[in-house]
Amino acid sequence: CGIVGYIGFRDAYPIVIKGLHRLEYRGYDSAGVSLFDKELKVYKKAGKVSDLEAFVKDVDLGGTIGMGHTRWATHGVPSDRNSHPHSSGNRKLTIIHNGIIENYGVIKEALLSKGHVFKSDTDTEVLIHLVEDIQDVTGLDLREAVRVALTKVIGAYAIVIMSADEPDLLIAARKGSPMVIGVGKGEYFIASDATPIVEYTKNVIYLNDNEIAYLSREDLLIKNIDNIVQTPYIQELDLKL
Ligand code: GLU
Repeated sequence: CGIVGYIGFRDAYPIVIKGLHRLEYRGYDSAGVSLFDKELKVYKKAGKVSDLEAFVKDVDLGGTIGMGHTRWATHGVPSDRNSHPHSSGNRKLTIIHNGIIENYGVIKEALLSKGHVFKSDTDTEVLIHLVEDIQDVTGLDLREAVRVALTKVIGAYAIVIMSADEPDLLIAARKGSPMVIGVGKGEYFIASDATPIVEYTKNVIYLNDNEIAYLSREDLLIKNIDNIVQTPYIQELDLKL
């Protein structure tokens, strides 16, 4: 299972797909991507990354912000509809996730009783609906809503979230699952390990547990889950890696 993200000035799709191929060794059963270019696009498919590539060969793959996922199913069988990215009810938010949201059942019950409709059997979809619900109820901006949602979640995760309303923002967070951020000039990369990043930049930040990274083309902000700004430690990759 793996995660790749890109925000910058290049086409995101080729970077994301190449990154997903580099992470294939980790094992997976499905793959998918989100891209933003005038609108939010989500393409996903059970099977190999190459099956996803065949599936999208005639669609619009434009966009300089995007993310990709390979899934190792834990909640819900491997299928197109259980593949990531998953979307919020209003279709404005998408999420990719590696790991397990252990308390997704109680959260899902509460959201169902408020009228949320789910399209998959995954724990992941519950988390993005929770973010949407927090925004609806509190009026918080997306950055804060994601942080508050994560305070309500038990489990392990590496996630990336994109929003149709904020095409200059990728939100990444981790707890118990690895996540690396590549720091370029006017661009950032995200991946489960450094292998998808090395050909673009040697400067990386290893996100710590309970940290949330807010990435825009111009800057990067890292906070912990208690809303305290963290000073990122940028290290240089050892190219023998
Ligand atoms: N628990 C999530 C699912 O079953 C993510 C699995 C993964 O790590 O890929 O969809």
